[in-house]
Amino acid sequence: RGAPIIQPKLKQEDIFIAVKTTGRFHKTRLALLLETWISKTKAHTFIFTDTEDEDLTSEGYNMVVTGCQSDHSQQALSCKMSAEYDGFIASDKRWFCHVDDDNYVNVEALLLLLSAFPQEGDIYVGKPSLDKPITAHELLEGNATREVQFWFATGGAGFCLSRRLAEKMVPWASGSRFEQTSATIRLPDDCTVGFIVEKRLGISMVHCPLFHSHLENLLLISQRNIPHQVTLSYGMFENKLNSIEVKGSFSKEDDPSRFKTVHCMLYPFTSWCP
Ligand code: UDP
Ligand code: MN
Repeated sequence: RGAPIIQPKLKQEDIFIAVKTTGRFHKTRLALLLETWISKTKAHTFIFTDTEDEDLTSEGYNMVVTGCQSDHSQQALSCKMSAEYDGFIASDKRWFCHVDDDNYVNVEALLLLLSAFPQEGDIYVGKPSLDKPITAHELLEGNATREVQFWFATGGAGFCLSRRLAEKMVPWASGSRFEQTSATIRLPDDCTVGFIVEKRLGISMVHCPLFHSHLENLLLISQRNIPHQVTLSYGMFENKLNSIEVKGSFSKEDDPSRFKTVHCMLYPFTSWCP
């Protein structure tokens, strides 16, 4: 009844991309992202860190300096995720995507993935880090606990939430409540997102194999499938450097993460590509 609501086609700039980083990685991990994929998404990419960086601010990057501690503790990381979530809620964007500073985001593949979902749906999409749901012990009143099981998307592979779902999460995720919820299950930030979506709201996560963290064997991604992947990663796994295998412009010494090589494969006309 009445005029149909026309949903305009999803655009790159409708996606709020939050990157989690820390001061000591600005000149290393983050710099590599700025040179590569963030050069394509600068205006709608928000860098959540713990240290001011005049150089980056003056170059026009959206820097969000949180008051979070600069360590790898569960609390510090939940604090940053909470800031990312609040930043998205305050924005006018249609999708929230979180990535770590060791992720490459293929923005064309990301747009294609998100475009395929009902734009007004409750969507939580990412890669499960385990092959079965995680079991948590939810802290109840009076020190009692209850066993709960749910799926969650590995933060290190990146994940996305639709605006409608993100808004339903407000009672457990906005402001100080995200860290409180995280403390209730005593698990990291990415598990907390899964807990809120699946257990508080009863909505199932969408499992997607196109997101990748360095906790999986990245050599298993074949060169011809790389352009379809939504995220990539690199890092240490079982004491070795885990990275994708891709032939191209840069040697492994010049490009150990392979992100420059992938970027030149996707955007061969980039000025610094051979
Ligand atoms: N990180 C952070 N503070 C720290 C260490 C790491 O905010 O003290 C961020 C880091 O920038 C990255 C994420 O947390 O985005 C995961 O860190 P890392 O890749 O070093 O560890 P992982 O959990 O993947 O082993
Ligand atoms: Mn990592």
